[in-house]
Amino acid sequence: MTVRTRFAPSPTGFLHVGGARTALFNYLFAKARGGQYVLRVEDTDQERSTPESERMILDSLKWLGMFPDEGPDEGGPYGPYRQSERLTLYKKYTDMLLEKDLAYPCFCTEAELEQMQESAKKLGVPNIYDGRYAALPKADAEKRIAAGDRYSIRLRVPAEEIVVTDLVQGRVKFDSRLIGDFIIVKSDGFPTYNYAVVIDDFEMKISHVIRGVGHLSNTPRQILIHKALGLPLPQYAHISEI
Ligand code: GLU
Repeated sequence: MTVRTRFAPSPTGFLHVGGARTALFNYLFAKARGGQYVLRVEDTDQERSTPESERMILDSLKWLGMFPDEGPDEGGPYGPYRQSERLTLYKKYTDMLLEKDLAYPCFCTEAELEQMQESAKKLGVPNIYDGRYAALPKADAEKRIAAGDRYSIRLRVPAEEIVVTDLVQGRVKFDSRLIGDFIIVKSDGFPTYNYAVVIDDFEMKISHVIRGVGHLSNTPRQILIHKALGLPLPQYAHISEI
């Protein structure tokens, strides 16, 4: 198997030392095994991403001597390497999920979502989506979409135990009932981080996902997406924070 790693910064500020360290692990692991190190810009948060911070991050990594084999500046066979330029690809997968009823449109307003969050907070319980649009008939949903109602798309999450097998952390178990049906496509049409990352890691043939342990709690969501899409899992390695 060819080792392919990636560093996937969000261009929302400077490259910080923790990010540089994660990049270094990915770079060295790929180089030590004759593989490739990919740089991918995760700019799906339209409000917080800026071209200036992308430029600073890419330049800082070069300044550190970590030149990627593929990336926004270098190009490569699995590009584009900027998520905002890959929306058509994500849509292809979303259409498939909707078609198979593995995902569904949710018309919750921001006010409704805030209210859910507040009442969960008051009760001291995790904020889990109550599934209020999970059973909306497809025809009704289509009518609302045609009428121009804003909606996001949620993954149908089956109740199950999810085991993350991690090269550093070992076996870590999660209960999907504490996750609930979560958003994969936001109402602005952009994919969420968890969704885009799964599609891109697969499409870019990433073999090892090496990242900070702060992302471990995102991994069960990503595994649920992998399963729904029928995609193989990469190997995970969640490294300590500095
Ligand atoms: N874009 C994410 C971040 O900047 C990293 C995603 C990942 O490594 O899976 O934290």
